[in-house]
Amino acid sequence: MALPARQFLRRRVRHLRPLLWLVIVALLLEASYHVSRFRVPAPEFELDPPFHTSCQEPNTSAPRENAVLVMLARNEEFLQAQHSVASLERRFNRWFEYPYVFLNDQPFSHEFMDAMRASTNASTSFEVVPREQWTFPDSLDKDKAQVSIAAQGRHGILYGGLTAYHHMCRFFAGAFYELEALRKYKYYWRIEPDVDFPCSITYDPFVEMARHKKVYGYTIALPEEGSTCPSLFRQVSDWKEFHNIQDTDLWKASISPSRLPWPLRSFTKHFPHRDRHGDSWNLCHYWSNFEIADLDWFRAAPYQNLYAHLEKTGGFYFERWGDAAVHALAINMLADPRAIHHFADFAYRHDYYYQCPANAPDGQLPTSSTLNAAEPNWALEQQGGIGCRCDCDSHTPSNVGSYCLNKLREPISKKRPWKTWLMGWVF
Ligand code: GDP
Ligand code: MN
Repeated sequence: MALPARQFLRRRVRHLRPLLWLVIVALLLEASYHVSRFRVPAPEFELDPPFHTSCQEPNTSAPRENAVLVMLARNEEFLQAQHSVASLERRFNRWFEYPYVFLNDQPFSHEFMDAMRASTNASTSFEVVPREQWTFPDSLDKDKAQVSIAAQGRHGILYGGLTAYHHMCRFFAGAFYELEALRKYKYYWRIEPDVDFPCSITYDPFVEMARHKKVYGYTIALPEEGSTCPSLFRQVSDWKEFHNIQDTDLWKASISPSRLPWPLRSFTKHFPHRDRHGDSWNLCHYWSNFEIADLDWFRAAPYQNLYAHLEKTGGFYFERWGDAAVHALAINMLADPRAIHHFADFAYRHDYYYQCPANAPDGQLPTSSTLNAAEPNWALEQQGGIGCRCDCDSHTPSNVGSYCLNKLREPISKKRPWKTWLMGWVF
């Protein structure tokens, strides 16, 4: 007599059970192997310590690097621009006198130029960005772009509705490095209107960058606003695969590997910030309103080719890709992780975000007349402090959150804070 259908099925399933378990175990093993490929080994010692951890007597007679201070600004921001220059002069450039180049998409007003000239003894030049570098590229359907920009504005995407902001981001990602006004320089320090440097910078960061073969320096690292660039990571990672570029440890540290086993994880590749395997970018990037970097690195073919590819996709207009995100992904993919420097000893504020180191104990050179002329007072000295005459409140060394800073320092830092590890695991 035939077995009832249910009993028959149950028996078949019982036979299949070992196979089922085997498949589950294989999928779990596959997923953990996949995740393990993104693990970044901790170095035995710190590979990117601060250049100095206390005040130095400014060496004003040492040779300078071939470097420039650059600020893009609007005429109406002249007070904020003056504030930034005054802060940088007082804390750094009074001793080193690096030249300034000011950039604008409009001719600078006399009011702006007079205010800047009055704020520094260093040389100043005022340049208008060439028209063709501050508009829609020829290859782009301008009407479609404008419709998209209006929609981004309606959807509340940060600065998405402002055409000029799109131009600005594209400019800093690409044309900036080709500017005639910067051609003769090797290093730049980017500043913006309304920034503060609340510690004294008593050594020449350009000289140290050159000495340590650094190509990119930053102060603050933070996550990008995801809605501004849903397809950027996919574009960058596809380009990387097409050119067969191997993963650097920093690239690995920028990725949150998918916990799903193959082939399930590849089904998620259409979600924002995913590569074609389904792994996602953790959105961490360097805040590019402060940058000290090597112009030649950005002028060289690898970066320029990547930029040309990104430009063709139209993402600077159909989305609102920021130059910071583009710079960070490029640096993390193409540079040696040891060529990136975190200026942990610099204090920096822009808008509401800041980094503020504590003052180094016994490192303030209290009798230095050079330093006293600039900054006779400073906040409490604290054990482990590395700042010079900082006047910011270092009880909160940074108000940005440490996840991205720790992630981006994984390849060069001995420290592995458990919180970062845990967050990386969960997300
Ligand atoms: P945020 O720092 O991202 O909030 O953006 P900002 O409004 O500070 O702009 C970033 C930089 O680009 C600043 O240096 C601005 O002065 C500059 N900028 C933005 N839009 C324009 C513009 O339309 N013209 C000029 N000349 N500069 C601009
Ligand atoms: Mn700004």
